[in-house]
Amino acid sequence: MNDAIFNDAMSEIMEIRAQYISERSVFIDGARMVRLLKALGAKDTDLEKIKLVSNDLPKDPTLPFRESKNGRFCFDSDASRAYRLEFQPFALSAEEDFVRHDSGKTRVFEEIGDDLQLNSALQALLVFKSLIFRGVRTAHRPKLDYDNPAWICTLFNLRTISTPELQGEPALEGVHSDGVDHTMTTFLGSENMTADSAVTFLHDMREKNATRWNETDPELLLGQCRHRHFLDTLIVVDHERKHSLSPVSAVDERRPATRDMLIFFTRKPVLPGHISHPYDSLEPHERLPMAIGLPAPAEERVLVGAGAPAVGGMAQ
Ligand code: FE
Repeated sequence: MNDAIFNDAMSEIMEIRAQYISERSVFIDGARMVRLLKALGAKDTDLEKIKLVSNDLPKDPTLPFRESKNGRFCFDSDASRAYRLEFQPFALSAEEDFVRHDSGKTRVFEEIGDDLQLNSALQALLVFKSLIFRGVRTAHRPKLDYDNPAWICTLFNLRTISTPELQGEPALEGVHSDGVDHTMTTFLGSENMTADSAVTFLHDMREKNATRWNETDPELLLGQCRHRHFLDTLIVVDHERKHSLSPVSAVDERRPATRDMLIFFTRKPVLPGHISHPYDSLEPHERLPMAIGLPAPAEERVLVGAGAPAVGGMAQ
């Protein structure tokens, strides 16, 4: 990898990180993401392939208008690497600001395979996310183990589908949080979707859970954005900002409209008494192994000087 390109990208990612720290959310344009991910190792062929990875998703376990897969990864900061974690069922509760018909229910998603986890663009997205959130102080959630050096990232690959019979809702639950510390959402593509579909709204934590996106208090609205270009990405401090989304609508209402996303939930491992405690293993996945190195953020590398991991050379 070209050191100068890598170092410039690291500096730019640190600027995005600084914006994330001061504003508690940041939206990065897809064209900028493509450039940064390429500097982090994403190959052109994989950037093309990841656009199509949502084409064969299975049905979602609880939502009729969605297709989905998920997979768990560990950001192991001490070892400066990320690796695939073994399968576990998934649950989100009302206690975590997630109020929906399936709140508190244990859900079993089909697993993300090598087509996604070995894609260099996906791996660069994991590196990018780790560079943004690592070392960022946030409001702590109850029953998470903030002394544990590990971070658990649950990655969802989702397609929301609207048909003449059924409207696709990227957030049927209305105003909510994802029960994590840092949520990153990345747009892969859409078909036949109107230009005002799937707007993301960010709300003050005082906004009432389960309120529909169009019935929220304007005084508590903190921002809005819309994923429209390949790799448009939003990162939010999940326990400091709630969010809601408008539905997916079709341009040609006789045909389905689709919206493909990658959602990266990242949180500390949970403590006993948390709904996810039985499903929070840190064991690697035996059948679908994957591991990648994580470069340290540039400012950390400057701070620790010569002892820093030699990834792409030192930032100046
Ligand atoms: Fe969400």
